[in-house]
Amino acid sequence: MINKNKYRFSREFEKTDKRFSIGERLVHGNEILIIAGPCSVESKEQMLETAKGVSKAGASLLRGGAFKPRTSPYSFQGLGVEGLEILQNVGKKLNMPIVTEIMNTELIELYSEKVDLIQVGARNAQNFDMLKKLGMQKKPVLLKNGLGTTVNEWLMSSEYILSNGNDNVILCYRGTRSIENATRFSMDIGAIVVAKESSRLPIAVDPSHAAGRKEFVKDFALAAIAAGADMLEIEVHNNPEKALSDKEQQLSIEEFGELMDDARVVAKAIGRKIRKG
Ligand code: PEP
Ligand code: MN
Repeated sequence: MINKNKYRFSREFEKTDKRFSIGERLVHGNEILIIAGPCSVESKEQMLETAKGVSKAGASLLRGGAFKPRTSPYSFQGLGVEGLEILQNVGKKLNMPIVTEIMNTELIELYSEKVDLIQVGARNAQNFDMLKKLGMQKKPVLLKNGLGTTVNEWLMSSEYILSNGNDNVILCYRGTRSIENATRFSMDIGAIVVAKESSRLPIAVDPSHAAGRKEFVKDFALAAIAAGADMLEIEVHNNPEKALSDKEQQLSIEEFGELMDDARVVAKAIGRKIRKG
């Protein structure tokens, strides 16, 4: 266990699990919350159909990228503000809080107003200026670990948000780069266990970006629940073969339903439940 006595993320700072609500959904209770939705918001129809599917299968929060961090500047960059508006409308329609990634500090005001859970992606996980500013606004933040960061560095990033006044932070583990290239990133179960042990914050796991291939996503998700994840974030698309980003890893609505069925069994085995909706 990392001894970070008195850092705000730590169990030494506060022994009890940090809990808060997003809408009426309690984060870090006995119930595990599922975030699902496409990698990118592509159109109103795509978003609505996907949202209806994941909602029916029991997802609690709706994701969708509007501003996308892409390796190549020639790849689809997201619909931007228009995408955010589509996500917001669909979320309202289905009564699902929305989760979307923030790419720069100029978007903070807009996101504070429109987004229920602001995601900081792996590529911005050590953008300390942005983390400080996200600490000065009130919306909860889902903080991914960086592509090549240690658990300690990830936790210290959360400290930038917490120490600036925002205590509603979720740590989201999405794997790191390692020597292994059979999966897109390496999902270290040990990192999940250490983060749970060291921090009072809720821990989410993103098996989609870790696995990078849809055939591995369910097993990564089940392992994450067994390791103690309080939330999962999963990419689901109404037509994955046609997805404009991350098409190899996005589940169909049907595959997501199968994942949810198995997730309920694993959650029950460790005395927890998957929240339905
Ligand atoms: C995402 O969730 O859309 C994403 C880009 O994830 P990450 O930042 O973990 O790569
Ligand atoms: Mn993606």
